[in-house]
Amino acid sequence: MEHVNTRAVHAGSKVPESSTSPKVAPIYATSVFSFDRLDLIDEVYLGEKPGYVYTRMRNPGYDMVEEAVASLEGVPHALVFSSGMAAITLGILAAVEAGDKVVSANVLYGGTHTFLKDELPRRGVQAVFVNINDLDEVRGAVSGGTKVLYCETISNPLMEVADLEALAEIAHSAGALLMVDNTFASPVHCRPASFGADVVIHSATKYLNGHSDVTMGALAAEDRSDLHKEYWSRLQSLLSLYGPVPSPIDSWLLLRGIRTLGVRMERHSQNALELAKFLEGHKNVERVFYPGLESSPYHNLGKKYLSSGFGGMLSFEVKGGLEGARRFVDALKMTELVPSLAGVATTVSHPAKTSHRSLTAQEKEACGVRDSLIRVSCGLEHFEDIRLDFSRALDQVK
Ligand SMILES: *Cc1c(COP(=O)(O)O)cnc(C)c1O
Repeated sequence: MEHVNTRAVHAGSKVPESSTSPKVAPIYATSVFSFDRLDLIDEVYLGEKPGYVYTRMRNPGYDMVEEAVASLEGVPHALVFSSGMAAITLGILAAVEAGDKVVSANVLYGGTHTFLKDELPRRGVQAVFVNINDLDEVRGAVSGGTKVLYCETISNPLMEVADLEALAEIAHSAGALLMVDNTFASPVHCRPASFGADVVIHSATKYLNGHSDVTMGALAAEDRSDLHKEYWSRLQSLLSLYGPVPSPIDSWLLLRGIRTLGVRMERHSQNALELAKFLEGHKNVERVFYPGLESSPYHNLGKKYLSSGFGGMLSFEVKGGLEGARRFVDALKMTELVPSLAGVATTVSHPAKTSHRSLTAQEKEACGVRDSLIRVSCGLEHFEDIRLDFSRALDQVK
């Protein structure tokens, strides 16, 4: 028998044979795959035989979760990344080169805003920020050389709904791709590709996974035109080259999270609508931002683009500025201050101090991120318990 040290290295490394299949696919926690003969390397590289080589290039777990994301968004392709920012940055880089222009909504996730403003110019790409709901302004900005028109379905943190069909038409008439961050809406409430978007991006860290225990990104894309095909092949090589792939364990967790996306979104959205209505009528609340409210200027766009609910995210301005926000947040009991969103528990965040921290005072003012602004991620709790917690904390504001 071999030495115990040798057996420690080799024993138990064969996958057991089975005539039955596991109901849930295994976690392919391996960085590399083995070849049982030399020629198989060529056959796999040339695509003559199916096979995986190296997890930075491909992993079976990625294929499965990508198939799920593509199916949810109703498009042929998807890729998963190590974070939402990896999907956003590589997703944009794959569409541009020096001399090109990106036109983007000015109200955006903070990281996306910083990437466009500070990183793209270093690569010779110009970023122009517009009020995405002013279609004339968008049309004026999208002129020759624009390769990407970028926005969020529901913007962070003011919950403005983008007019996707109109934006797709503007982008396409200029030969640009419409890229939409669909994180807040989730594919349960909105499938941007069905309104003309070419590329749909998710921070899968949020609703797709839904349990605050995975950091991942996903990007789904159309395949109708040569532009789409060129984009897709460039993005695949960038992903393998820069290498921001997720852990196979995380990609397995993401697929598990996706299984309950439908029922989670239903409850998130019900609770958010109830909470928005409650806050709207509260004396210590200045303003509520939620497209599900009939008083919202985005209610009509919300009804057009969002189905079976308006999403689990809302925000509101509390009376008393920063001091009011501090009193409210500090008085919450069940609800925690968490600078992220979309988990099972209701959480609040303070955009001015977290997601939009890197913006200057003028930039914050321009996109409505005030010190009194509280963003809420409505969880899956029984609504009455959420209402009680908010009601008690709001009583401490004045
Ligand atoms: C969180 C978030 C991102 C960034 O995703 P990460 O997974 O944190 O990298 C991008 N867009 C939106 C709308 C987000 O909420």
